[in-house]
Amino acid sequence: MSWRAVALALALVYTSSCAGSERPERVVLVVLDALNAAHLGCYGDTGRLTPNLDRLAARGLVFERAFSNSTWTLPSTTSLFTGQLQETHGVVTARHSVPTDAVLLPELFRSAGWRTAAFVQMAQASATYGFDRGFDEFRYYGSSGESRWDALPEDALAWLRAHTGERYFAYLHLRRPHGVYDPFPRELARLEGGCRLVAGERDEELSRAGSFGERALDPHAKKHVAHLYRANLASVDLSLGDIIDFVEADTGALVIVTSDHGEALGEHDYYGHGDQLYAESVDIPLILAGAGVRLGTDRTPVSTIDLFPTLSELCGLDHSNRTALDGVSLVGRVASDAAPVVQRAIPFSARYRAKGLVSVGLVQDGLTVVLTPDGIRTRGPDARGSETDIADLTRLARDFRRRHADLGARPAEPVEIPPEIQADLDLLGCEGEE
Ligand SMILES: [Zn+2]
Repeated sequence: MSWRAVALALALVYTSSCAGSERPERVVLVVLDALNAAHLGCYGDTGRLTPNLDRLAARGLVFERAFSNSTWTLPSTTSLFTGQLQETHGVVTARHSVPTDAVLLPELFRSAGWRTAAFVQMAQASATYGFDRGFDEFRYYGSSGESRWDALPEDALAWLRAHTGERYFAYLHLRRPHGVYDPFPRELARLEGGCRLVAGERDEELSRAGSFGERALDPHAKKHVAHLYRANLASVDLSLGDIIDFVEADTGALVIVTSDHGEALGEHDYYGHGDQLYAESVDIPLILAGAGVRLGTDRTPVSTIDLFPTLSELCGLDHSNRTALDGVSLVGRVASDAAPVVQRAIPFSARYRAKGLVSVGLVQDGLTVVLTPDGIRTRGPDARGSETDIADLTRLARDFRRRHADLGARPAEPVEIPPEIQADLDLLGCEGEE
């Protein structure tokens, strides 16, 4: 073996032993609101919308089958922060706040001595609903007021730079690609290929497609909605480029990219998110990269409720006083693809208290079963397989639906919504009081 070959072999050993072996000193959790994973290059999309996220994914671990617990921001973000299903935390109306008896993820970091900071563009993930608990600093960026949406990336990067080398947990909740679909003009132009509407035509109406619900659009309008949404995703990817560069260069940092739910673009003549449980409604990305994480992909079904136990174990945080968790730690899979897979059925559901439980789904192995008011839908490669598996999972889903049909008696900590937050909710087409 030549010296050159020996050096190369040593470099490979060094690289592979380093990847996945370090405990993170810094954690940056990035939530891109309303992102169906299917639009990301690292999940198979060929439109080159997300070069920065794809670059991050190539240096980390992609959970290819990640599911949000809910179909809208408030319950889903509560699940992410508590490790609990919405059936446990009970935040199921737009007037609920985060339950005071649940330990929140940033509280774990702060009580372990980590600095904590949040940079949030989404009204339903703001301090109004109690999401500031556990953060040393909580900065909200809205459509009006002193801090506007577009100031977030630069502010967050400045904060990360200012705290280089310290132990911190930073939470970035980006509004895009959630509607309003208002992409950067350069991204809209870059991605115009194949869209037969002239840019600007019906833009004002179609940019609000995220709040349409059931609707039959003509094929050109449907195509343009997808164009606007995808350009919105490309815009947020572009805005994250410098932040990703910065944390990638930090060997002690762990970056997580995920979403709170998906977005429908007329695949089933339904637009936006909230009361449907299609694949596009709940399939979200989960990408981890950096300290403590192996490289590769993983087909294990996982959920946003798993992030709380995963991060607490990965970072060595004390969660002995935590409230009951529904999620499981993914640390074994994050460190090694030989780790055993936890056998479980993962639930997700679309519900509002006033409407009750609209639909419920369960995923186990390669099979998904969804119970809707109209019947049963199945998907996944195993959906063509064993009738017994389908019958078993359907029975589990029916049992879950029966046990959790009514959350009406759950205590709520009702919120007062300030006018500027209400204005942002209205602009984003978020559902108000039922
Ligand atoms: Zn959302």
